[in-house]
Amino acid sequence: MAGVYISWPFCAQKCTYCNFASGVEKPEIQKKYLDALCLHLSRQEWPFLPETVYIGGGTPSLLRPEELARIVESIPGRPWREFTMEAAPGSLQPQWVNEWVRLGVNRVSLGVQSFVEKELRQTGRRHNARTVAEDCELLRRAGIGNFNLDLIAGLPFQTEESWEESLAWLDRLQPPHASIYMLEVDEDSRLGLEILGQGSRYGAGAVAPDEDITARYERAATFLGDLGIPRYEISNFARPGFRSLHNLKYWRMEPYLGFGVDAHSFDGAMRWGSPEEVRDYVTYVRRGAPREVAVEKSRPLEERFLTGLRLDEGLPVDFAALPEALRSRIETAIDHQLLVWNGKVLRFSSRGILVSNEVFEGFLGADSAES
Ligand code: SF4
Repeated sequence: MAGVYISWPFCAQKCTYCNFASGVEKPEIQKKYLDALCLHLSRQEWPFLPETVYIGGGTPSLLRPEELARIVESIPGRPWREFTMEAAPGSLQPQWVNEWVRLGVNRVSLGVQSFVEKELRQTGRRHNARTVAEDCELLRRAGIGNFNLDLIAGLPFQTEESWEESLAWLDRLQPPHASIYMLEVDEDSRLGLEILGQGSRYGAGAVAPDEDITARYERAATFLGDLGIPRYEISNFARPGFRSLHNLKYWRMEPYLGFGVDAHSFDGAMRWGSPEEVRDYVTYVRRGAPREVAVEKSRPLEERFLTGLRLDEGLPVDFAALPEALRSRIETAIDHQLLVWNGKVLRFSSRGILVSNEVFEGFLGADSAES
């Protein structure tokens, strides 16, 4: 069964480390975007009945309920098995959350990033630990017991002790799902530009070295495992029954349709995307949202490795059927103890997970390259 992704790319502020297609925009631009998004959705001929819906961004929790209602009214299949709303802590209001529930939202992902005020202020976030605790309480009262809390290992000014403080809050709040990201500074973010230019406004000099970031990630994985929230994907941890059904579709290469800026779609054979800029997206929808704007043929074998290996359950592999180049790169990764092969399934070792991006880079193009 397939999923639907919707992008709402507007935020109350731009965080220093963020390189998503998101930002602060005037209400009239947001209105134009909303109209284009609703038009795009209303024109869609659905090749499947969606099972999951995910609205991310950006900060979709800033949408007024009547705006959210306009967006979802064209999506068939309600009640969806899972409908996730990404939310910024502090943007939740009881009436709005009740409206979300009425519209089918049954999962919320809170972009917490840290529970430590110094780290939050430095990135531009406005909430604090108490805000997050109140939001969790509000969600539970409204009947949304399925929620995720995101943390980033390696934010500027984070220390071993402050990381422990953030982890302790996970213990206090007992979320059924948590995501732990290792800070990756993109050159296009304000923090990334500052690191290149050696400035100090966004805390570039206070970013932890890579080895500390990986140590914090490992500590979090152990901590969450001990809490009964084991890892099921490189960055994602869940209690039994609380894995993200929508995100599993990406990793298992099931079809999905994306709407909004920089939203991607996959029909099982082809991939395509929409423009990254709000104005370009509005024009694109007015032109009928032509799929050929950014269409690319899927590379099924390569993609199967890049997505399937992210899951702790691993990837069933028939070595004899693999192209020589790919087989030899996998064997090298096994020899270096980055991947583990049990005779049926290939998966990352605990060391390999820490350098998964480098391992994935080694697989690029290997499905067709000569050895
Ligand atoms: S990190 Fe989230 S809240 Fe911050 S600017 Fe990016 S999308 Fe918006």
